[in-house]
Formats: sequence, C-alpha cells, structure tokens
Amino acid sequence: MQTKKEIKLISTGVKCPECGLGEIVERKTHKNKVFYSCENFPDCKYALWYKPTGEKCFVCGAMLTVTPKGTQKCSNKKCISAGSRKKAVKK
Ligand SMILES: [Zn+2]
Ligand SMILES: [Zn+2]
Repeated sequence: MQTKKEIKLISTGVKCPECGLGEIVERKTHKNKVFYSCENFPDCKYALWYKPTGEKCFVCGAMLTVTPKGTQKCSNKKCISAGSRKKAVKK
C-alpha cells in the first residue's frame, strides 16, 4: 500500500537545513499554534517556532527566523546572536 500525503501543507519555500531534502512547511499544533517543520517529519525532526527567512545566522549558521514582531532571530537558542542586536563579525 502506498502512502499518500493528503494533508495540504503550506510550504515556506525554504529548504530544510537538517536533511537537505524537504522544505520547511507550516503546521499547527493541536492547540492551533503555528509552527514550522520539515515536510519529512517525523523522519526529520527539524522544527522552528517562527517562520524561517531562508537565510543563515552569521554567527552559528543556523536558520534565521522572523518573530511576530518582525525582527530576525536565530533559531539556535544557544547562539550568542539570539535576542541581541546585529553585530559586525570578523571573517
Ligand atoms: Zn528535514
Ligand atoms: Zn546563530
């Protein structure tokens, strides 16, 4: 029996950095909270709370996301850039 995806997923057009195969799609929790995860879930566990920008953090290389406030935030909680303002970094 073939598995058929019947749930319509809204893609963000951003490729999953974890598996490199799927795209990040919009989903909702059972509490109707929107989050973003890899379309290959549950095979790929990559997930974000905010919409990914498609750009990578200049500090750690993790996905940058846009908060509801419209500011960019690194998806890596441990990243030093998270919650702080943009800083020039030496290459
Ligand atoms: Zn993935
Ligand atoms: Zn970062």
